[in-house]
Amino acid sequence: MKLGPIIGLVWVVMVIASLVALLIGVRRHGVRGARAVLLGPLGAIATAALVVAWIGYAEGVYRNPPAKAVVVLVPLLLTGVAGLYVQFIAWRAALRTPIGPGCCQKCGYELKELARCPECGKERAA
Ligand SMILES: [Zn+2]
Repeated sequence: MKLGPIIGLVWVVMVIASLVALLIGVRRHGVRGARAVLLGPLGAIATAALVVAWIGYAEGVYRNPPAKAVVVLVPLLLTGVAGLYVQFIAWRAALRTPIGPGCCQKCGYELKELARCPECGKERAA
C-alpha cells in the first residue's frame, strides 16, 4: 500500500482544519481574542515539511550517505512537529471558553468591582 498519497491527503485535511479553527476562533473570540488561532495556517504550512520528509524517505534519499539524514531529515522533522504543535495551540485557543466582560482576562474569574483578580493576581484590564 502506498502511504505517500494518504500522507498528502492528511496534510490537505490539516490545512482545511486550520482554516476551520481560524473561522471558529475569530467567530468566538474576535480577531484580537484569537491571536493564537491566526498562527494555525502557518502551522499547517510548516507540517508540509513532514510530507517532504516522507517523499525523501520513500525515494531513498536518506540512505546514502547516512549523514544526509541528519542534515536534511532532522530539520524537516523538527519543522513538521513544530507545525503540529502550533496547530494544537491554535485549536486549543479556538475552542477555549470565551471570557465575558467584567471577568479576569487570564483565568475567567468574575471580578465584580475588584481591581485585581483574587484567583490569579492579574490586574483588571482597563
Ligand atoms: Zn484571574
